[in-house]
Amino acid sequence: MTAGRAATPRVDVIFFGAPGAGKGTQAQILSAQYGYRQISTGDLLRDNIQQETALGHAAASFMQRGELVPDDLIVEMVKDNLPPADAGVLFDGFPRTVEQAKALDDLLQSEGRGLPRAIYFYVQRAALEERLLGRWTNPRTGRVYHERFNPPKRDRVDDDDGGPLIQREDDRPEIVGHRLDVFERQTIPLIKYYDVAGSQRYLKIDAARPIATVTRELLDALESAPAVRTS
Ligand code: ADP
Ligand code: AMP
Repeated sequence: MTAGRAATPRVDVIFFGAPGAGKGTQAQILSAQYGYRQISTGDLLRDNIQQETALGHAAASFMQRGELVPDDLIVEMVKDNLPPADAGVLFDGFPRTVEQAKALDDLLQSEGRGLPRAIYFYVQRAALEERLLGRWTNPRTGRVYHERFNPPKRDRVDDDDGGPLIQREDDRPEIVGHRLDVFERQTIPLIKYYDVAGSQRYLKIDAARPIATVTRELLDALESAPAVRTS
């Protein structure tokens, strides 16, 4: 635990990386303990499906198949749910395509905010499969556990609300492999988009290390990060 550190959230940050790389885990820790605001497009989409909205209906079949939901639907959803600029915002699982990355830059610039920094969570593929297949999720809050690496206090029961944990439909073995392929094809190009010489926007972290180690590295990076200005 990194208790005792004074958080000074200032900048907007995107977390990108393969499914299972630990983006949600870290975003949940940083928002619960350090004052960041988290926006998770996966959680928002699952809420829409549960509430049977038009967006939920449109997104469900893509998600079940492990495909990305079309960019226009995602960008509209983020616009509708953009947190205010009073604290650093962590974009968890968004953007996932270069089109989405451009749309986010445009959106933040139109609001007079600095450009977001981008942190790539790198984990080798074999480890990702083990993480996804052992993931247990609280469908009410989005909090995630792992049966080996981060187990709840009571088996399959959430520590916070005492309700049941579930295994996500798209964490089944036959979908997991496809999601990892989709990541390599559609999301890896973000590295080139963000890692532009001189822009100081991009950081790659070794996200295969234990959860607390990754949290410490993120805090170091975020607390020393100057806002990236547009001019
Ligand atoms: P993402 O949001 O990138 O898809 P999650 O944060 O949901 O990934 O993590 C995927 C699974 O891996 C979860 O079961 C989580 O408990 C576990 N996990 C996350 N970070 C680590 C880590 N550093 N080491 C081991 N397991 C981890
Ligand atoms: P996640 O919870 O981040 O693993 O996302 C679960 C699923 O939601 C993905 O497999 C996609 O189908 C969809 N999804 C989440 N975020 C995005 C995004 N930024 N762009 C497109 N699809 C997304």
